[in-house]
Amino acid sequence: MISLHQVQELQNQLNIARKANKTIGFVPTMGALHPGHLELVKKSKSENDITVCSIFVNPTQFNDLNDLKKYPRTLESDSKLLETVGCDIIFAPEVAEIYTEAELELKRQNIEDKAWTEGKEINFGKLDKVMEGAHRPGHFNGVAQVVSKLFRIVQPDKAYFGQKDFQQLAIIRSMTKQLDLPVEIIACPIVREADGLAMSSRNARLTEKERSVAPLISQTLFKVKEMQSKFSVTELKHLAEKQIATEPLMQLEYFEIADAESLQGINAHKEAKSAVACIAVKLGSIRLIDNIVLY
Ligand code: AMP
Repeated sequence: MISLHQVQELQNQLNIARKANKTIGFVPTMGALHPGHLELVKKSKSENDITVCSIFVNPTQFNDLNDLKKYPRTLESDSKLLETVGCDIIFAPEVAEIYTEAELELKRQNIEDKAWTEGKEINFGKLDKVMEGAHRPGHFNGVAQVVSKLFRIVQPDKAYFGQKDFQQLAIIRSMTKQLDLPVEIIACPIVREADGLAMSSRNARLTEKERSVAPLISQTLFKVKEMQSKFSVTELKHLAEKQIATEPLMQLEYFEIADAESLQGINAHKEAKSAVACIAVKLGSIRLIDNIVLY
């Protein structure tokens, strides 16, 4: 496994691989790796000759500066974990390697930057107006910005994303299509702790007490899935809201039952061919998200 920090070094390596007709799989992450991330790397390993994992805490996708500052940075232990699953290349660039000062300044001033689309009009329609998009202004624009930059640097054949970030997957599929990028997007299932809590880099920041109550989030989703055939959408929403309200440390940001494709909320089961229940909860100062496909 090799560890690279500069775009040019990475591209030199990948050019050699491409000349030898090797396929490239790509797993973008923000580090603080856990077994959920490693599953994406393993899947990429099984489908490609070379797997690149990027570790980059992307400043443009944080709407909360405190969250950005406190985001765990554990490159040394991440490298060890990636080695255990046979990752070929770690790409861990500095911010200045990815963004110009002008781009960062636009973000600071909250001005939408269209430069990263290279002049192509990009519009997420209603996809980024709901759930995470509604609660984290500018978040998905930052995600799309960094992923498009990384796709152009790595030029992977396939890129791997977790269903843990269900809406992010939809945004990335939409961006890839609109920018006509020649990469196949592969969705990977959510990896959970033994008690059901969805693995997340943010879990490490929970206090012992918060961690002990955190499984209520996934338990709520499991319950909703179990009850879906007996209850209406409205009843399921009430059930979830009531269940989260039983835990004083938790504050529900949203619970939504949405069409799994358009991500727009539905009012009745029959409105969607496939539906997903999505939740965001503030547990102490940590914001956690999870979801479950209902049908
Ligand atoms: P992050 O480092 O949190 O930006 O996540 C990097 C990638 O790992 C994203 O595609 C996430 O959806 C994915 N991921 C994070 N947590 C999990 C999990 N528990 N199960 C599956 N994929 C995950």
